[in-house]
Amino acid sequence: MTITDTLHRPLRDLRISVTDRCNFRCVYCMPKEIFGARYPYLSHDEILTFEEIARLARIFTSLGVQKIRLTGGEPLVRKDLHILIKQLAEIPNLDLTLTTNGSLLAKQASALKAAGLQRVTVSLDSLDDGTFKAMNDVNFPVTKVIEGMDAAAQVGLRPVKVNMVVKRGMNESSVLPMARFFREKGYILRFIEYMDVGHSNGWRLDDVMPSAELIHIINAAMPIEPLNARYRGEVASRWRYKDGSGEIGFISSVTHAFCRDCTRIRLSAEGKLYTCLFAVKGHDLKSLLRNGASDEEILETVAGVWGARADRYSELRSENTAGLPKVEMSHIGG
Ligand code: SAM
Ligand code: SF4
Ligand code: SF4
Repeated sequence: MTITDTLHRPLRDLRISVTDRCNFRCVYCMPKEIFGARYPYLSHDEILTFEEIARLARIFTSLGVQKIRLTGGEPLVRKDLHILIKQLAEIPNLDLTLTTNGSLLAKQASALKAAGLQRVTVSLDSLDDGTFKAMNDVNFPVTKVIEGMDAAAQVGLRPVKVNMVVKRGMNESSVLPMARFFREKGYILRFIEYMDVGHSNGWRLDDVMPSAELIHIINAAMPIEPLNARYRGEVASRWRYKDGSGEIGFISSVTHAFCRDCTRIRLSAEGKLYTCLFAVKGHDLKSLLRNGASDEEILETVAGVWGARADRYSELRSENTAGLPKVEMSHIGG
């Protein structure tokens, strides 16, 4: 079954945030001043159980979802995540992947693979320890994240993709070293433009390093050329090194909005459904689940939410929209 929204976009991808907690305090996502000990994180009772998530996932796939990405917060801080992966991996024809900060990946990679996870994306913003620690703000070293990536590759969670958020004045000098290093390793590096998610990261347009600038810098050192998108709605624009040594990607959410092909829906840890990363309000599925709704009723609700969807925040973004109320990225899932 395929359902489409008011702009004729089909529903294809589901991102599930399994926790709003994280062991990092990245300055662009969960700044320490706001996400301190007194921050009102969700309690265990408030978040969806694995059974509830798996039930919803099956309903979503019957509505056309082909890909599920687990995210957070940091998904690997959720206890026994491999049990959820096992339940999701039983759904036929599903592309199942996960985005992680990599800190706990070396320990969990083989259990995740055995449970049926197919691939991972690991976030890393610099190879320079000083820069990386200033960005994760919990003194976490680069080597541990790379150990996590290598463990994932070793157990077959391939291809490993690497997400690097580039913030001007913070880590632009890490762009070329990162490109060289991951080309050598054969992991696919993707540069993400710094976004105005949530309302706590103090975003300014001047802090964004446009992909065009990054392409220029990389191309001058290691010539690259664009590749065709593999499918409608692919988030990263893909490029390859002209000498055939690999691929890199650019996620230009600010300078080249891709709302017109956006096929993504998001489920927060507490069971709210969001039709856009920049949504203000979610639709409460947890109450339906916990009040005994049938699969059919939930399916109709989801179809109704998607059918009414008109979101295209990134196409409308400006300095003026940055201050609008939004849900935090760690809550809704990146
Ligand atoms: N904790 C996991 C991680 O860091 O990979 C998963 C959740 S995180 C919210 C998902 C992705 O969003 C990460 O790659 C992160 O770098 C990215 N992200 C977070 N805040 C961002 C921002 N303000 N602009 C662009 N990307 C951001
Ligand atoms: Fe945590 Fe990921 Fe946000 Fe960093 S980007 S604070 S690792 S959720
Ligand atoms: Fe999709 Fe919203 Fe991002 Fe546009 S701004 S690409 S609609 S999530």
